[in-house]
Amino acid sequence: MQGVWISSSGVEFRDSLPEPRPAPGEVLIDILAAGLCETDLQLAKGYMGFAGIPGHEFVGIPRSGRWAGQRVVGEINCGCGTCDRCQAGWARHCPHRTVLGILGRSGAFAQTIALPEGNLLPVPDHVSTADAVWTEPLAAAFRIPEQLPLVPGTHALILGDGRLGNLCAQVLARHGCRVEVVGKHSRKLARLSRLGLATCLLSELDPARRFPLVVDCTGSPSGLATALAAVEPLGTVVLKTTVAGPHQLSLAPVVIDEVRVVGSRCGPFAPALAALAAGEIALSGLVEEVVTLAEVPAALERASREPLLKILVDVAGGLKVETTGP
Ligand SMILES: [Zn+2]
Ligand SMILES: [Zn+2]
Repeated sequence: MQGVWISSSGVEFRDSLPEPRPAPGEVLIDILAAGLCETDLQLAKGYMGFAGIPGHEFVGIPRSGRWAGQRVVGEINCGCGTCDRCQAGWARHCPHRTVLGILGRSGAFAQTIALPEGNLLPVPDHVSTADAVWTEPLAAAFRIPEQLPLVPGTHALILGDGRLGNLCAQVLARHGCRVEVVGKHSRKLARLSRLGLATCLLSELDPARRFPLVVDCTGSPSGLATALAAVEPLGTVVLKTTVAGPHQLSLAPVVIDEVRVVGSRCGPFAPALAALAAGEIALSGLVEEVVTLAEVPAALERASREPLLKILVDVAGGLKVETTGP
């Protein structure tokens, strides 16, 4: 099969990769479309020493099982099913887990993947394939209300105007927060203000302002320091950024101000897909480019130089989506 291969010598398109072999309980899924995200950029830069096929945001069609022939999305974490955490329903934190396209499992920048059937959710007919690709990153945004009791009216500062910042802002606003997004790109901020959200350029953020809730979606090593400077005493910082390099900063303010720092990674698929199906999340204008599998290496290269909002990979051909152009 065709696919994209990352190794220590770089990123390349390959024409004759072996199909994954499904373990018991798993099904083969033919990929229709996939999404390229910050994590893929980090993997290409050597994050987690990854070697293999990346890609974890996808829509595909299972060849067998309960959802055979229908479009599905899939939870990317695959637990062992037997350890204490899996038994408690936390496969996302199973110490033996594999993660699609990230850890020990071939990903969706390929024609076919294998996933446990229990990870799959059918995509409602009226949700387009291009929109359904957003389920996984949107689920990551829905992780925040799963972790924190969000009191309506809470003033929330989102750091980062990229696609994760955009999705977190929309999800927190849906939960009644008064959201303000800070970023470096006026074009991306304009997209958010058109959704009725308050925005501000990072360079213009009043350093004296403090917020009870700050969410770091910058994808940058400096995001945590900015977040700690903007959170009020007894406030909460949610960390969405995973950066390959080490952080260096003083944690004294966390102690002095008794700040709660909450790491936040993958989230629940069902509410994310439901929000997409209900048309509650604005995605228009978020896709800048659609590329083929063969074009992924060049797209990753481009995305590492320019701040792109989103690139979709049209794996099966014929994906219908409006793009804003690179
Ligand atoms: Zn992702
Ligand atoms: Zn387990």
